[in-house]
Parts: sequence; C-alpha cells; structure tokens
Amino acid sequence: MSRINIAIDGPAGAGKSTIARAVAKRLDILYLDTGAMYRAMALKALRKGVSPGNRGEVLPLLPDTEITAKNDGGAQLTFLDGEDVSRLIRTQEVSKGASDIGVIPEVRVKLAELQRAIARENDVVMDGRDICTYIMPDTKNKFYVTASVEERARRRLLELNARGEYLDYTLEKMRDEIAARDHTDSTRDFAPLTLPPDAIVIDTTRMSVESAIETLMNHIRL
Ligand code: C5P
Repeated sequence: MSRINIAIDGPAGAGKSTIARAVAKRLDILYLDTGAMYRAMALKALRKGVSPGNRGEVLPLLPDTEITAKNDGGAQLTFLDGEDVSRLIRTQEVSKGASDIGVIPEVRVKLAELQRAIARENDVVMDGRDICTYIMPDTKNKFYVTASVEERARRRLLELNARGEYLDYTLEKMRDEIAARDHTDSTRDFAPLTLPPDAIVIDTTRMSVESAIETLMNHIRL
C-alpha cells in the first residue's frame, strides 16, 4: 500500500505548521512538526549547560536522549525523555538553540531515523527544513512555503505577544533573529534548507491562511 507522505519545507515563521496542521486535519492523517524535535534536543543541551552549537559536548548527550511526538487531537505534544516539553520549547533561546544544534550531522541523522520511521508507518504531513530533500526525497508531494522576512517577523512577534511574551521585543530585533536563523539553516553543510527544484512554492506574504491551505490542497497528488 502506498503511503500519503506530504513534505513541507520553508524558513521560520512562513506559516508551515499552521498550513500543515490544517491539511493533515482535512485529510485525516498525522501531522509531524519536525522543528519541535530539534527544539527538544536544544532544550536538553541548554538544561545540561551545553551550548547547542558545540558538537563535542552535544554528541555524548545523544545516546541518552529520547524524543517522541504524540498526536493530541491534531496538535502535537513533544516529549523529551518522557517529559512533555511542548510549551517549554517555544522560547527565542530554544529557537536559536534548535538552529545551532541542527548543524550537527549526528543530531540530524538521529532525528531523521525517527522521522522516516513515522513516514513509513503513517500517512503524514511533515514540516521542517529538509523534508523534501533529505527525509522523503521520493514523495510526489513537495511544498516550499515562504514569506518575506519582515512579514515572518511580524507574525512571530504577534503570536508571542498574544501570549503575553516578548512584549519588550522590537520588530527589528525579531527580524534580525529570524534572518540569523535563516542564514544558519540554509548555509549548513548537511541537509541545509534549500528550495527543492521539484517543489510547489507557496509565498504567503500577502496570502490568507485559508487560501494558502486551499492552494496546497489543490496540488496534492494522492
Ligand atoms: O520549524 P521551527 O522553527 O520550529 O524549527 C526550529 C529550528 O529547527 C529551525 O530553525 C531549524 O534550524 C531546525 N530544523 C531543522 N530541520 C528540520 C526542522 C527544524 O534543521 N527538519
């Protein structure tokens, strides 16, 4: 039986996870937020006092780290060594840590194994940075969701501020942090963020969430 595997890549804050979650719900299949797994790994390092970009110090943590994702009514709960860290991984410190730890090939290989196993065993919509190119290069359904860096920073700040967080952040600071993350993600040697030649591009800068979802749905090949 052939699986429905839908891959969505793109830079931070472009709306990937909102779109991916909605598409998974419409098709009644699983949604996997792979960024959350990198975030959980970064949280582990930060808790151990290890800099997420320090390969020598991160490698010894890998064998003792268990990251799992559970579907909770369409939303994802992310567990680090059995603890639900779904909220704790949504800080700017962890965002940067995830980007830094994602440069380490051994971290990517470990998480890739988990992600590929999930794609083998489930119909799934997966979002991240290397899903089209590295995790499921053979899928028929590849999407690249993007938006201008200003718009992505604006949305991210709105989202955090709505939770009463990062109220002292300026738009410029958020934009600089997102641009720095884009740079790290797209310049690493191993499985960088790139625009896959065979992906459908959806630029959400001036698009409503609803029409982005519709556009993607219209391109799905089952
Ligand atoms: O998608 P999200 O912003 O939560 O991802 C956090 C970070 O995790 C990204 O900036 C990226 O560096 C890393 N990541 C990755 N590969 C993925 C998903 C996320 O390198 N498939």
